[in-house]
Amino acid sequence: MPDSRELISSKALPGDETTEVSLRPLVLDDYIGQESVKRNLKVYIEAARQRQEAIDHVLLSGPPGLGKTTLAHIIANELNVGIRITSGPAIERSGDLVAILTNLEDRDVLFIDEIHRLNHQAEEALYPAMEDFTFDWIAGKGPAARTYRLKLPRFTLVAATTRSGLLTSPLRDRFGISFRLDYYSVDELFQVVMRSARILGISIDEPGAMEIAKRARGTPRIANRLLRRVRDYAQVKGDGVIDRDISCESLAAMGIDSQGLDGLDRKILSAIINNYDGGPVGLSTLAASVSEDAGTIEDVYEPYLMQMGFLERTPRGRVATQKAMEYILGSTYKRKGLFDNP
Ligand code: ADP
Repeated sequence: MPDSRELISSKALPGDETTEVSLRPLVLDDYIGQESVKRNLKVYIEAARQRQEAIDHVLLSGPPGLGKTTLAHIIANELNVGIRITSGPAIERSGDLVAILTNLEDRDVLFIDEIHRLNHQAEEALYPAMEDFTFDWIAGKGPAARTYRLKLPRFTLVAATTRSGLLTSPLRDRFGISFRLDYYSVDELFQVVMRSARILGISIDEPGAMEIAKRARGTPRIANRLLRRVRDYAQVKGDGVIDRDISCESLAAMGIDSQGLDGLDRKILSAIINNYDGGPVGLSTLAASVSEDAGTIEDVYEPYLMQMGFLERTPRGRVATQKAMEYILGSTYKRKGLFDNP
């Protein structure tokens, strides 16, 4: 049985990569949801295409798994230019950056994932590269050191971040275009599931796809991962076809309930309600009482619980909402049979 924490993690996990590549939409028209981002991007791409120029640098922010890398590929593809991919932590020195930048062709896209993790030296070297398409390269050390100004091709930087608040303002100001991606609606995730099922040749009916969409935490990456697991279940326990019953049964077997909450989500809410009278309770106290890392709670669990209206962050700590109390207490009563035999 897979760990439900792995199923609902929005970060890419081993096993995701191969299918993610085949499921990645290649053109804007196949990219589901994020309507205002698509509308604006279409105009910028069309204008750049008409002028035969590179488009302005683009900053994409939002939680993992919402389609930032996919958009970077689409931008390059729609402009018919090449794409080079790297990430903030992979660029250790400005020398790494110069190797990447000087290998770009005119108008190419350079995608830097997790740009908030770029070190200070590389970030400073990036400023003139973004602004004037030049790079000051210092060769040698001490008194013999010489600075060479390298001319770079007119490239487009597409950068992604899950923590836009951590970006310095000089860096943020150098992006002409900035989009924030939002969680997807259930209807949009339904379309993601149906599209992926079609590509992977999975038999699924609409109610079956809807159950997966409802529990995918607003995130296409999770929707695709749940689809693959439900397919395994349908193959072994059913006749290979995913319908509503098979979806519900397999998702329940994975510990994911009808609201998309897993065991740890419920544990967090129960702890606030039962141990701290509904809150407020500080993050580190809460993390200790459910034996989980505070960073994981903050990045993975809380955004979804807040989006669902189960949790609020206040200056004094985390608070469970009325909806959370009804949900958690209701399911406890149900488990104890109190609803069935009043
Ligand atoms: P991020 O870079 O934000 O972590 P990715 O771009 O890697 O997310 O997206 C993860 C997977 O989710 C992709 O491989 C793709 O299959 C799917 N996906 C993301 N956004 C969309 C979308 N708008 N429409 C269809 N599939 C999507």
